[in-house]
Amino acid sequence: MRRTVALVVAAGTGQRFGSDVPKQYLPLGGVPILRRAVAAFLDHPRIDAVQVVIGPGQDEACATALAGLALPPPVTGGATRQESVRRGLERLSADPPDRVLVHDGGRPLVAAAVIDRVLDALDAGGAAIAALPVTDTLKRADDGTIGATVDRAGLWAAQTPQGFPFPALLDAHRRFADHPATDDASLFEAAGLPVALVPGDPDNIKVTMADDLARAERLLAPSEFRTGMGYDVHRFGPGDHVMLCGVRVPHDRGVVAHSDGDVGLHALTDAILGAIGDGDIGQHFPPSDPRWRGASSDRFLRHAVDRLAARGGRVVNVDVTIVCERPKVGPHRAAMVERMAAILGVGPDRVSVKATTSETLGFTGRAEGLAAQAVATVALR
Ligand code: MG
Repeated sequence: MRRTVALVVAAGTGQRFGSDVPKQYLPLGGVPILRRAVAAFLDHPRIDAVQVVIGPGQDEACATALAGLALPPPVTGGATRQESVRRGLERLSADPPDRVLVHDGGRPLVAAAVIDRVLDALDAGGAAIAALPVTDTLKRADDGTIGATVDRAGLWAAQTPQGFPFPALLDAHRRFADHPATDDASLFEAAGLPVALVPGDPDNIKVTMADDLARAERLLAPSEFRTGMGYDVHRFGPGDHVMLCGVRVPHDRGVVAHSDGDVGLHALTDAILGAIGDGDIGQHFPPSDPRWRGASSDRFLRHAVDRLAARGGRVVNVDVTIVCERPKVGPHRAAMVERMAAILGVGPDRVSVKATTSETLGFTGRAEGLAAQAVATVALR
């Protein structure tokens, strides 16, 4: 199996940006720009590792921005982007991958599909970059006055990622260290090697100016909110506890279930799946499948959150109501909120747990079992 590493270059000082903090460390939708760029590759199933290159003196800013991510220590870059990339490649050469994707740390909105297209082209052999055909009419100008109209036929605007066989790119960088280049494909071209173009994405912008940050914020803004609901029931049976909203609650009965029978998490899983029209928990985790016998239900909820994230979505808020006479939910409510917030990856202020009895009416009133309802609101972009 070929090993593919992403080299994310974030060594810029942000001179063009007009900010004390280099732009790659600024928050975009609450998450540092660099963290978004790195996460796009870390989360991609076809990328094996990510190496970050930062500017001198940026270690602390980098450590803060990338805290908790599974990354090797950053490489310190040089005076130019080209030199920074070369230093990153030299570090990787200690344990050389088969292929490397070079990506600008200032492009936080790179889509998994763009990464896939570059990788698909690499699979076919050679090198490839993401690029967009130029559609505007191009003018060459001096002092604000047009000197000539440039034929745009065959012109493309280069983006990143740019993908290469690792040994060939390292060699090109070593050989052409004195050949000024603003991207890596240029060095491959200088070496006379072919580079394919694959479609980039207009949203894969490079945040260079303050205006770009505002544009990226707009691109990131949710375009749609959706709501889903879920409902679940389990019958009481022998046992000494029930699982409720991810918390073990002592009780003089247990529940009869294939999994751990957590009605709160089951209802919530269905609510999230419902919001994205993605079936229900039984479809994703059939009760007939022995793998889910006694399964801890947090994995069901996590799966639903992953399906949501795969569509570029996130949880806005969830609200769960548990219906039973006993056990009493109140003493466990705070722990339930904390547990569900952790599984969902959101703050506890976005999670609600409520409880009600059914006034001794019906199956919950007769304490034959317990039920839960859940509503989830999600944002998609
Ligand atoms: Mg259930």
